[in-house]
Formats: sequence, C-alpha cells, structure tokens
Amino acid sequence: MRPLSVLIEQFKEDSLNRLSSKIIAEGKAQGKKIIGYVCHYTPEEIIYAAGMLPIRILGGPEPSDIGSAYLHRNMCPFARSCLSQGLEKHYDFLDGIVIPHTCDAICKLYDMWRLYVKIPFAFMIDHPHQLTPGAVHYLTHELNRFQKSLEEFAGTPISEESLREAVVIYNTNRSLLKHLYELRKVNAPPISGAETFQVVKASMLLPKPLHTQMLQELLETLDSQGESDGKGSRILVSGSIIEGSEFIQLIEECGAQVVIDNLCVGSKYFWNNIHLDGNILEAISHRYVHQSPCACVYSDQKGFEQLKGLSKDYHVDAVILYSLKFCDTYHYDFPSQKEKLEKEGIPVLELESEHSSGAHGQLKTRIEAFLEMIGKHSRGDS
Ligand code: SF4
Ligand code: SF4
Repeated sequence: MRPLSVLIEQFKEDSLNRLSSKIIAEGKAQGKKIIGYVCHYTPEEIIYAAGMLPIRILGGPEPSDIGSAYLHRNMCPFARSCLSQGLEKHYDFLDGIVIPHTCDAICKLYDMWRLYVKIPFAFMIDHPHQLTPGAVHYLTHELNRFQKSLEEFAGTPISEESLREAVVIYNTNRSLLKHLYELRKVNAPPISGAETFQVVKASMLLPKPLHTQMLQELLETLDSQGESDGKGSRILVSGSIIEGSEFIQLIEECGAQVVIDNLCVGSKYFWNNIHLDGNILEAISHRYVHQSPCACVYSDQKGFEQLKGLSKDYHVDAVILYSLKFCDTYHYDFPSQKEKLEKEGIPVLELESEHSSGAHGQLKTRIEAFLEMIGKHSRGDS
C-alpha cells in the first residue's frame, strides 16, 4: 500500500496537469477526439459512449483580460477566463465543445468560442429551466439531438450498449466520490477539504476508468487510516463555480474544516447516479434534470433544501456562500438562503471575489473574523 501523501500528491494541480497533458497527447496520437465541456449540466456519458474523451474547460489560474475584449467586463469572470484560455490557445487540442444553456454568460461564451476560437464541432444543449413534468421529456429530446450530432461528427453510431456501458462507468466513479465524501462526516476527516476538491476536479480532467482506479487506491488507504487530527469549525461552502482549491485551502488555513460543499466543481458533479431501467437517454435526462441545481437553472427553494440537508448530515457549524463578481443568479439567491439558514440557527458568511482560483488573500481577514465570531458563538460567549 502506497503512503497517503503519495496518493494525494497525484491529484494536486501540477501532477494533475502533467498527467492530463500526457493523456491528451497520447489520445491525439491515437486519433481520439477530445471534447471540451463547460458545465456540470453536460451529459459526459454520451460523449464517452461516442469513443471521445470529455474534458472540463476551466479558466486560467490568474485573471486574464483578453476575454474581456469579447465578453463585457461586467459579465461572469469565469466565462471571460474560459474564453481567454481558448483565445490564448490553451485548448487548441480540442476537437469540439459542448455547452449547456444555463446562464447568459455561458451562452455568450458559446457564441464567442464558435466565432473567435473556432472549433470543428460545437453543440449547445438547451437545458430546461423549470422543474415541470415535461422537463425530462424535453431534455431527452435534446439529448437525442446531441447524440445524433455527435454520431455525425464521429462518423459512427453510438450503440445502446455503449451508452449503458458509459453510464455504468460513470455511476461507479460517482459512487466512489460519494464514498470519499462520506468519510468527511466524522469529527476529524482523514482528508482535507482542499485535497478532496482536487480529487473531484481530477475526475473532470482524466478518463473515468483511470480516475476510478486512482480513487479506489486512495479510498483503500483512507479507509484503513481512521480519523486525522483535524479540528476547527465545520464549514459548508456553496455558490458560484470555484475552479481551484486555493479558496477552500484559505478557509482551512484560517483554522476551519471544509467538510462539505455544494459546488459544481464539487459534490453537485457526482451526487446523483443514473438508473439503468427503461430508455437509457431518458434515464440520463432524468439525472441531469434532477441533479443538485445551479442557481441559474431552478428556483432557490431546492437549493436551500439541499443546503439544509447537507448542513445536517455533515454536522456543519456554518455556511460560506461564495459568489463570483457579476454572477447575478447566485447574488439573487443568497439573501433568502442566508435568511432561511440563519433561521435554522446556522451562521452564514457571504463572500464575493473577482476570480475563483489563485490568491484570495483579501478575503482572509473576513474569514478569520467570521470563524472567531462562530467560535465565540459555539462557546456561548456574547
Ligand atoms: S456555476 Fe452553474 S452555469 Fe456555471 S459552470 Fe457551474 S453549474 Fe454551470
Ligand atoms: S452561474 Fe454565475 S458563476 Fe456560474 S457561469 Fe453563470 S454567471 Fe458564472
């Protein structure tokens, strides 16, 4: 059994980037098509079943201005950063992109990518924005259109058998990630929030069978380790997309433990599995309609129920609601979520920043003050 530190190291940013680049280069050399996708509303299973490699597109580690020449400065910094990465040719290896219709910023990103980055294959999935009885039916129709478009691009049909096989592979990976999160329910989890974040992020950048193998080895070691010496307030982080582990790490360096998240590069990515009964496209559609929602897709009530449930299950002391600047959808939801959580006796800190990865030093003072306050609160001081 390899030491835990060695296993965790594989998921850290530098190692992960090296491994991902190597796999992409090998795939390209074998003629494999690589498809970039932008959001956890993308049904990767269909891309995988087409024999292609899905890779999540993320922004750069530092803010970049190039994207702002095409997407206005008062639009989502994540969308602008992704576009900058495309314009700076960091995603030149992609054969195609898939973007679901979620928020306006993501839709504009799709238009700009097609116009200015240029790519052989581009597809937008029109994801339903209401949880009506017709939503699953509508998305099934969209996924059927997506499947046909991919088949045409690949020059080969996607069989029912390969779709089912892809779903099984993805379900296995999701179940293992859920097991990893289960380990964080204990008083002193054996793996930190920042490390866990990297493990989930790696699942979006590596082929699923390889990630599953790495994760299985990690879990075997974690299962045999028992609890760590972790301490500090137990925090849930929710909100806009967070692309790098630096923000979670900052909270943990301030003395807390991020034991659970409600993020799209996080628990939302794997929380729900796909059942294998009946029509497989409909089953995939059902999963993507009913997965843990982004604020840009459904009303905040479902989001609040999710936060309340996770707070209880993970024995959370406080919630940090994080938003990117100009992310109207999360800004809109936060006041009512904060009010409802505080009514449940859960303290809430709202934070906003310009860039979701890289340095967050300016937020440190506010996090420290908040942790100090909830520390006093839990000790019963005034
Ligand atoms: S924040 Fe919402 S729209 Fe943006 S990538 Fe995440 S799930 Fe998609
Ligand atoms: S929901 Fe907010 S953070 Fe996510 S992509 Fe849209 S504007 Fe950006």
